[in-house]
Amino acid sequence: MSTPAAARTRKDWETLAANTRPEGRAFIDGKLVAARDGRVFDDVSPISGQVVAQVARCSSADIDVAVASGRAAFDAGTWRRTDPGTRKRVLLRFAQLIREDIDRLAVLETLDVGKPILNSVNVDVTFAADCIAYYAEFADKLSDEVAPTAPHELALVRREPLGVVAAVVPWNYPLIISAWKLGPALLAGNSVILKPAEQSPLTAIRLGELALEAGLPPGVLNVVPGFGEEAGKPLALHPDVDMVSFTGSTEVGKLMLRYAGESNMKRVALECGGKSPHVVMKDADLEAAASGIAWGIYYNAGETCHAGSRVIVHQGVKDALIEAIARVTTNTIPLGHPFEPATQMGALIDQGHMQRVLGYIDSGISQGARVALGGKRAFEEFGGYYVEATVLDNVRADMRVAREEIFGPVLTMTSFADEAEAIRLANDTIYGLAAAVWTSDMNVAHRLCGALKAGTVWVNTFDRSSLATPFGGFKQSGFGRDRSYHAIDKYADLKTIWTAYK
Ligand code: NAD
Repeated sequence: MSTPAAARTRKDWETLAANTRPEGRAFIDGKLVAARDGRVFDDVSPISGQVVAQVARCSSADIDVAVASGRAAFDAGTWRRTDPGTRKRVLLRFAQLIREDIDRLAVLETLDVGKPILNSVNVDVTFAADCIAYYAEFADKLSDEVAPTAPHELALVRREPLGVVAAVVPWNYPLIISAWKLGPALLAGNSVILKPAEQSPLTAIRLGELALEAGLPPGVLNVVPGFGEEAGKPLALHPDVDMVSFTGSTEVGKLMLRYAGESNMKRVALECGGKSPHVVMKDADLEAAASGIAWGIYYNAGETCHAGSRVIVHQGVKDALIEAIARVTTNTIPLGHPFEPATQMGALIDQGHMQRVLGYIDSGISQGARVALGGKRAFEEFGGYYVEATVLDNVRADMRVAREEIFGPVLTMTSFADEAEAIRLANDTIYGLAAAVWTSDMNVAHRLCGALKAGTVWVNTFDRSSLATPFGGFKQSGFGRDRSYHAIDKYADLKTIWTAYK
């Protein structure tokens, strides 16, 4: 479509979506293939509850074929033994093809996940391409090591690819999270089997096609859609898979550790759930905090692992903060149809998840919380799954809404009297993905940054990110980091080579 994305209307996007034929077959060994037993499942769009594609329902027979293909490509060395310049050019071309396919990828991402179309364009597709390009640039810049040794000896410390890497990803940011894994894993020379979530498989399949077109040899990237138990489990248990790089719930993350132990002790990296706190001190700039807090929970309808879902606020400013959050949300974050360009908050992923989110709101109310904003289902006439931006006030730390990951547009408000209580409440969770501190006193800010147990702590801002900064969690939010050059080491082993010479 020639009209620039920012100038298109809902009708333009819906026409584009109607003309997009999603590909639902698996992508194995450079070819689109049906599941070996021919089974498919319905891919339902959360926008309307309508089926948008029939998708290959891969199971262990397909996993065996995909792993064998990845292993053969690895052993043949068609990718890992290419020179650094070639690897860089292929990955840069892959990033470029993602950019050129932006309309199709953005429409598929919005159809699958229900996120606002301009977020898919400006964030999901764009960041995925940026990520692949970021790692491409390491190909001819990252050197290995020469260790200090005695004379007449040479000790090389080389990074070697692991082999076949399984990337098991969730449904909330399918393109971005896939790219976070593909970039460093492919750069390091591995073969990758990408297992998208059953709710959002379409852009992953397209990535397989684009990578081949960019020059990645067949078998180096295989994509196997399917359900967790049927496709994810045999992949994670497979004796010829060398690593599982997982992003998803803490519950399934623990299964990944078990599968590794029960099979071949494959490497495991886990990016799991979160329940990130905002600590708002009495001297905070409340307007700035309200904006950071509202966007930090309602962006992507709260379906974000590091969403700032718990506000721990000084008792003296709680009411003013709630009023400011409600104003920012009402004025700047409209809930609406995902193909409407003005929409900032779209649908939840599926009916079951919507019921779960509404169930949490009910549970909060029954345990004594007060609904200060939203709280209800919306737009039933669309046929999809929409829930209003919600604020629950008077939340105690022992309530389910304060302890469990809701993964929806629900913010909880809990007050504190002093700094020690704020720290205790903020850290009172099994998770440790992210946290934020809002204060105008840098002494307090630095004290809190040291005390909060989280992989990222923001001060007077929220959700700032860069490919150059590592992302991941403490505690049961997982271990291992995505993004930055640190992620590359996850996908490689170190080999030491000693040579004696005269
Ligand atoms: P999920 O754990 O249900 O599923 C994630 C992936 O694992 C999917 O591909 C699924 O098919 C697969 N899977 C499910 N059961 C499996 C099993 N028994 N064996 C093997 N594979 C299995 O998570 P979800 O509902 O897709 O995503 C939401 C969760 O992901 C939330 O908890 C969220 O916090 C987390 N998440 C974390 C990050 C992060 O970077 N820390 C990012 C995004 C999402």
